[in-house]
Amino acid sequence: MKSIGYAAESAGAELKPFHFNRRDLRPNDVAIEILYSGICHSDLHTVNGDWGEQPYPLIPGHEIVGRVTAIGADVKKYQVGENVAVGCMVDSCQNCDQCEQGDEQFCRNGLTATYGSRDRLSGEVTQGGYSKNIVVREEFVLKVPESLSLETAAPILCAGITTYSPLKAWKVGPGTRVGVIGLGGLGHMAVKLAVAMGAEVTVISRSKDKQENAKAIGATGILCSKDQDEMQKAANSFDFILDTVPVKHDFNTYMPLLDVDGSLVLVGQIGPMEEIMTVPLVFGRRRIAGSLIGGIAETQEVLDFCAQHGIHPECKMINIDQVNQAWGELTKGNPAHRFVIDMSSLSL
Ligand code: NAP
Ligand code: ZN
Repeated sequence: MKSIGYAAESAGAELKPFHFNRRDLRPNDVAIEILYSGICHSDLHTVNGDWGEQPYPLIPGHEIVGRVTAIGADVKKYQVGENVAVGCMVDSCQNCDQCEQGDEQFCRNGLTATYGSRDRLSGEVTQGGYSKNIVVREEFVLKVPESLSLETAAPILCAGITTYSPLKAWKVGPGTRVGVIGLGGLGHMAVKLAVAMGAEVTVISRSKDKQENAKAIGATGILCSKDQDEMQKAANSFDFILDTVPVKHDFNTYMPLLDVDGSLVLVGQIGPMEEIMTVPLVFGRRRIAGSLIGGIAETQEVLDFCAQHGIHPECKMINIDQVNQAWGELTKGNPAHRFVIDMSSLSL
């Protein structure tokens, strides 16, 4: 199938139109016309080579919402015309203990990422969602609940699941005192989800600039991480902190904020961090942990959870020709929303 997307030719290059072909449908494949595609900070990290060498040209994008245009002969769950979604993975071995328990992201044989991976059968490079269409095996396609707006659902596919999964794993609920470091794409979804779970949520940000954004989505307000007095007063006041900062940073700034037995869970920076001071860990049984996206069943669960609780990501809609500018703004680290590309702005 003919396709077009916006690809980078090399690490750090601007994204430009790129014509390519999607594979012919296998019996268990679903073909999808992409309507909306979210922009995740991971797209920048990957394409810029922060996480190692990539196959180029590479089309990023793993927050995909679209409509089924064709199905393979054995597809059972989907029909042509249905609204569907695709997240960060398009395949896994489906046989190992992790796949069997629904944690395909930890597949023992390696997950197949939506872009930049090799297809398990053909060896072709997978290409992501900043494109007109995609072909994905049935097991990795998700249903978009009717009450979600197609226009704003895309960020749930990565920002949503990446924050929902640890909130669930750490049993965040009524009464949990939650801190969310960084009010960006992931951070703002974490706030909305944790508030819906009944938690008391505070945003921990570099400044008070996003105070109104934080309050508007249900947080109590902003704790400024650069304000020493405020940080000292907030010592021991959180049970759970979700860290979404996308660059190398210092856990020691945040650990004293946790109460005894509290956990800081990192979903942001993947790579080296500043040296860790162990005193707050030992004197207080505090923990530092990490979390990676979430499984397929859990991704469907967060879509359904958002529909049930009326959670809609804060989106700034852009056309495909504004994508490089949006990346520039994300690099500066300021937006308190997700950029979402309206794919009707790209023609085959
Ligand atoms: P984003 O929209 O750019 O938001 C990141 C936020 O972090 C910013 O809004 C900013 O919030 C804060 N920040 C930015 N630069 C900072 C700095 N130098 N020091 C301290 N805080 C800073 O990014 P995103 O899409 O939410 O992604 C966040 C991170 O999560 C990225 O590294 C991404 O790769 C990663 N990620 C991980 C997973 C996973 O499975 N673990 C999945 C998706 C994404 P304030 O202005 O409020 O300070
Ligand atoms: Zn992502």
